[in-house]
Amino acid sequence: MSKRKTDGDTLKCSFCNKSQRDVRKLIAGPTVYICDECVDICLDIIAEEREQEEQEGKMRLPKPAEIKTFLDEYVIGQEEAKKRLAVAVYNHYKRNEIARRRNEVELQKSNILLIGPTGSGKTLLAQTMARLLSVPFAIVDATTLTEAGYVGEDVENIILKLLQSAGNDVEKCQRGIIYIDEVDKIARKGENPSITRDVSGEGVQQALLKILEGTVANVPPQGGRKHPHQEFVPVDTSNILFIVGGAFVGLDSLIEHRIGRKAMGFTADLKSAKERDLQETLKQVQPQDLIKYGMIPEFVGRLPVIATLAELDAHALVRILTEPRNALVKQYQRIFEFENVSLRFQEDALEAIAKLAIERKIGARGLRMILEELMLEMMFQLPSKTDVKEVVISKDVVMNKTNPLMVMEKAG
Ligand code: ADP
Repeated sequence: MSKRKTDGDTLKCSFCNKSQRDVRKLIAGPTVYICDECVDICLDIIAEEREQEEQEGKMRLPKPAEIKTFLDEYVIGQEEAKKRLAVAVYNHYKRNEIARRRNEVELQKSNILLIGPTGSGKTLLAQTMARLLSVPFAIVDATTLTEAGYVGEDVENIILKLLQSAGNDVEKCQRGIIYIDEVDKIARKGENPSITRDVSGEGVQQALLKILEGTVANVPPQGGRKHPHQEFVPVDTSNILFIVGGAFVGLDSLIEHRIGRKAMGFTADLKSAKERDLQETLKQVQPQDLIKYGMIPEFVGRLPVIATLAELDAHALVRILTEPRNALVKQYQRIFEFENVSLRFQEDALEAIAKLAIERKIGARGLRMILEELMLEMMFQLPSKTDVKEVVISKDVVMNKTNPLMVMEKAG
C-alpha cells in the first residue's frame, strides 16, 4: 500500500490509486486516503468472511465463568448445576472447534443429565444456555415418544424440531442443543426386562442411543412418519448437544440403599442416611443407581455429565419472583407502568406467594399461576381508573384475597 499520494494537487486513493476526480468520495486517514469504491470492496470482504465463519460454525465461545455469570442472571440458586453445565457446555463446543480445525473425527461427546424436581429450572437452564450461545434449541418430551411406540421415526422427529428451530439450516441445526424432558418416565419398570416384558420405555432408550452418540439421522422434511418416496434431510447429530432431564422420584432411596450397604454392610442402620437431605443424597448418584432405576446401561453411558438440582425453598422462590432479568414481579411492574401506576409487593406478600407455590408442589412453575390469579382483578380494573398512583400488595391480599391498597393521585 502506498502512502498518501498526491499528484500535483490531485489526491489519490492509497489502495487503488484512482484520483480524487475519478471517485465519488475520498476519505483521508492520518497518512493514507481511501476511496468509496475501495470502502465498498473492503465491506464485501469483511461480510464474506463473516458469513464463512458463521457457516463454519465459529462463534466466540464464552469461558465457563462467563457462562455461569450469564446463567446467574436468569437462573436462581442451583449453583453446582450451573457450574457443571458451564464446564460441560464449554468443553463440548471447544471439542467441536478443535475437531473441526484438525479435521478430525469428533471426539466422544459429553451429553448432560439433569436430575431435579419439577419446576426447579432444568428446562430453563438448557434454554438459557442455548440463548447465550445463539444456537438453535428444541425441547422434546420423552413421554410422547413412549406413546407412539419405539420405532425409529419418532426419534428422528426430535431432530426435525431442532431443524425447524434452525430455520431449516442444517449446518446451524448441527450445532444446536436439544433438551429431552422427563427421561425418567422412559425407565423400564422392572430391573429385569425378561420378567416384566416392559419394552416400551426401554425401546425408546434404545432408539435414542444413536442420536445421542452421533449418527446421520434421516429427517423427514415435513415431519410425521417416514414415507418410502419422501426425501430425507440428512442431519449429523455428532455435534448436537443433548441435555436430558428428569425428576427421578425415588432415586434417592436407591442411592441410600447402595451407600448404606457399601459403607456398613447389610445390617446397616439406614436411618441416618435417610435423614440426610435429599439433595445431598442425589449428589452421590452413580451410573449404577440410574441403571437400577430403569435406565439401560448404554443410555446412562451416553450421559457422562450428571448435575443435580435442588428443590427450591421459599427463600429461593422469593428471589425468583424478584431477581431474574425477566422476573415475574418486574414483568407486572412494567405492565402497570403502562397505566402510569407503580406496583409494590410487600416482603411478606412475596413470602406468602412462595409458600402457596410450595404447597402446589410444582416448584417455581406455580408462581406464575398464583400471580396471575392474584393480579387478574387488578389488571381488569386498572385501565379504567385514572387516579391511581400506586398499588400495594400485602400478605392479606395473597392469603385472604382482600383488595390491594390503592394510593390515589392527590386531587387538584
Ligand atoms: P423443570 O424443567 O425443572 O421442570 P422449568 O425450568 O421448566 O422446570 O421451570 C419452570 C419455570 O419456573 C421456568 O420457566 C422459570 O420461570 C421458573 N424457574 C424454575 N426454576 C427456576 C430457577 N432456579 N430460577 C429462576 N426461575 C426458575
